[in-house]
Amino acid sequence: MIHNFNAGPSILPKSVLQQASEAIINFNNSGLSILEIGHRTPLFESVMDEAISLVKELMQLDDDHEVLFLHGGATVQFMQVPMNLLDQNETASYADTGVWSSKAIKEAKLFGKVEVVCSSKESNFNFIPKDFAVPNQSAYFHITTNNTIFGTQWQQIPSVSMPLIADMSSDILSRKLDFNSFDLIFAGAQKNMGAAGATLVVVNKQILGKIKRAIPAIMDYRNHIQSKSMLNTPPVFAVYVSMLTLRWLKENGGVEAMEQLNNEKASLLYNAIDNSKIFKGTVVKEDRSKMNVCFVMDDAEQEKKFLEFSKQNNIYGIKGHRSVGGFRASLYNALPLSSVKYLVEKMEEFEKGL
Ligand SMILES: *Cc1c(COP(=O)(O)O)cnc(C)c1O
Repeated sequence: MIHNFNAGPSILPKSVLQQASEAIINFNNSGLSILEIGHRTPLFESVMDEAISLVKELMQLDDDHEVLFLHGGATVQFMQVPMNLLDQNETASYADTGVWSSKAIKEAKLFGKVEVVCSSKESNFNFIPKDFAVPNQSAYFHITTNNTIFGTQWQQIPSVSMPLIADMSSDILSRKLDFNSFDLIFAGAQKNMGAAGATLVVVNKQILGKIKRAIPAIMDYRNHIQSKSMLNTPPVFAVYVSMLTLRWLKENGGVEAMEQLNNEKASLLYNAIDNSKIFKGTVVKEDRSKMNVCFVMDDAEQEKKFLEFSKQNNIYGIKGHRSVGGFRASLYNALPLSSVKYLVEKMEEFEKGL
């Protein structure tokens, strides 16, 4: 058995993979593959409808919040958000907490003015800034709730007077939040809720239509709302895998149960790191991510040896991102507690053998 700690694309529930592979051959006993039916058929429309209603239910969204499944990944949202919400003479505020935030900031500058109200760049993004003010006249405030590369996570969501926008790509549906307090949430599906190719967008429709810019039809959220995410051909298979994963999530107790399990997994691994003499966490304790656990060793040779050792023991995907080094274990919803227990055992075994 392989223990899959990949950062993204990443582990999916076995039952989801099983059903998705069956649907490629014979979808819902139709005798057709899900890959060869029209997206405007009742067969596929029911997939899209169920995916949207599961998101609404799991996130407990109010009627103002619309659910969209779009193309292009979270990266397209870096541009689509300011294109829809930021006029050229306006200012948007951003928190700079890692690579993904920095990319979002860069894109927003193409559409209007950007104020970076806080940043942890000086210390290689190893904490979440706490003391900052967001100017009242900001068109919106953008945060990255979980920083996939650096392993930090906002434990306290800031409350602000302007629309709050969140990149939740790597912690969507992993913990209980008041999702209605966000005005726009986006997440590439491939980290915590499905397959690459679909992007979830949850948007409060009241914030749309307030700017002067002409927006290309395919980039305008209002068109996607109106056409129920069927403005053009949606990423059908990726939406299907998300729908199956959402079903799985609901059957397994929903967001609350995921949060409990994720807390348990994260504290198990962080305790092992804190109790070790060779492994060291890389971020400020109070801002530690429950999704991506980053840790290093002092000795680069030993790091290589542990990576080799983990490979031999079927531990997959723990090599750290190049901007942090060391190791990163991603503990997304679908990763079982047993895999974290196994990793911890192997870390202890490695340390004892030195
Ligand atoms: C992976 C990731 C992205 C990029 O997602 P794509 O779907 O590849 O565009 C953006 N933001 C965060 C927080 C991520 O983890």
